[in-house]
Amino acid sequence: MSKGLLIVISGPSGTGKGTVCGELLSKTPELAYSISATTRQPRDGEVDGKNYYFLTKEQFEKMIGEGGFLEYANVYGNYYGTPLGKIEERREAGQDILLEIDTQGALNVMKRCPDGLFIFLLPPSLPELERRIRGRGSETEESLARRLGSAEKEIEIGRNYTFVVINDTVRQAVKRIQAIMVAEHCRRDKEDMINEVLEQ
Ligand code: 5GP
Repeated sequence: MSKGLLIVISGPSGTGKGTVCGELLSKTPELAYSISATTRQPRDGEVDGKNYYFLTKEQFEKMIGEGGFLEYANVYGNYYGTPLGKIEERREAGQDILLEIDTQGALNVMKRCPDGLFIFLLPPSLPELERRIRGRGSETEESLARRLGSAEKEIEIGRNYTFVVINDTVRQAVKRIQAIMVAEHCRRDKEDMINEVLEQ
């Protein structure tokens, strides 16, 4: 059994990461989602333990103290973090795991898990990004301006990722990410695959 991939997806707020990751998960049954913890308030329709583990600041800081996070970051004034859970054990058992996290968190995962597969999701353009955030209707003008301001800096950080995928349509973006996953498995498992055939 070859080791599962640790797939880290980031992209500026409003790029459509949530939709792409949701679609990717539903079309890729062998991929498991790592549910993050956050101190931000749930949005309409978000469910605790499904979208996020919604924690108080005290609970989150206690978990930091206990070394319970693979990474965590402060994003727009709230904590977000990846619970360590059993990520490595699950990977050793062959499970591919998906993390949808911000660029600060991803840079930390790059140090801690250099064998991760880092995919940066790009909007087709900055005006299109603004249109998507406005369309979501969940931000105040102030938080919209803050998110747009961060977008250009985050895109710069995208240069450090293994791959860049443009989210022009969700379907195309998901197909590209699935293609990357297949290619990575073929690359990383080549020794095992060759040995298996030679030993038959
Ligand atoms: P939102 O509040 O829109 O759900 O997420 C805001 C940002 O936090 C997004 O860029 C999202 O990728 C990021 N985020 C979500 N979960 C995590 C996490 O566990 N760790 C880090 N570092 N960022 C996260």
